[in-house]
Amino acid sequence: MQIYWAKVNKIIDETPEVKTFLIDRPEDFTWVEGSHTHFALEGFNAGDKPNRNLIRHMSISTLPHENTIGITTRIREQCSEFKRILKKLEVGSKVALFKTHSNVPLRREDKNVYLLSSGVGLATFRPLVLDYFNRADNVNLIHSLNIDSTKDFLFPTVFKSAPDKNFTALFVDNRKDYYEEVKNLASDKAALFYIVGSDEFLVENMKVLRDQRIKPEQIMLDKRENQRHELLSSVYVGEDSFLVDPK
Ligand SMILES: Cc1cc2nc3c(=O)[nH]c(=O)nc-3n(C[C@H](O)[C@H](O)[C@H](O)COP(=O)(O)OP(=O)(O)OC[C@H]3O[C@@H](n4cnc5c(N)ncnc54)[C@H](O)[C@@H]3O)c2cc1C
Repeated sequence: MQIYWAKVNKIIDETPEVKTFLIDRPEDFTWVEGSHTHFALEGFNAGDKPNRNLIRHMSISTLPHENTIGITTRIREQCSEFKRILKKLEVGSKVALFKTHSNVPLRREDKNVYLLSSGVGLATFRPLVLDYFNRADNVNLIHSLNIDSTKDFLFPTVFKSAPDKNFTALFVDNRKDYYEEVKNLASDKAALFYIVGSDEFLVENMKVLRDQRIKPEQIMLDKRENQRHELLSSVYVGEDSFLVDPK
């Protein structure tokens, strides 16, 4: 396993609680849209075993052509040791990245694509949208729906409706509006639905989609295949059509 150590070159305050860490991109470090990586802080591999308190999964919120690795995360007042260290990290600090993989590449299948996210989950989708803006081939349209109760919505310059590009974005700040909108979107029976958020959020969304007769194969989750299968089976009880990896 290759561990890439790289320097933080910029820290952006996206909202009062959300920061993006822009990290120098090692020459041979590459990734595709929707990727997540293992993001680790100095000292994580100092002992016999890796110190899990210093490692988190994080989506990469940029694309390689931006030539920087973006990690976007929320740091609340009450936070873990990991986030406490992150909050104090300065430009020039070294961080480690390893085991990078995408569970949610953009499916180019001539379908409508709906991106459903909660809070910083939007970070996972930023590169999908940029990839689509660069090359719209075999994607009919993209619509993003994000819920954030803080009302400090992320990435407003990317997630801005652009009808000429068949891209629309909607931000809501409460669950009622959110799930009503998901139900509306699910009237599009042939579309693809990407969902990013907590497991509880994934399950709630999948239940709405299931009730609207959206099939499991149409649902993309940022999970490894076995975890995806487990979550889908908890919602689509008795159906096994999703045993096949849609990718
Ligand atoms: C594939 C994948 C991609 C991911 N991508 C991202 C990403 O791009 N960005 C991202 O931010 N996360 C991402 N995550 C989740 C990430 O790995 C962390 O689990 C998440 O950020 C929470 O971090 P944390 O455990 O350090 O807890 P925190 O964020 O610090 O805390 C989580 C919750 O616990 C509470 N809490 C924590 N410590 C205390 C305490 N001592 N007292 C009281 N309350 C406390 C906090 O208030 C908060 O509500 C991803 C996960 C996966 C699996």
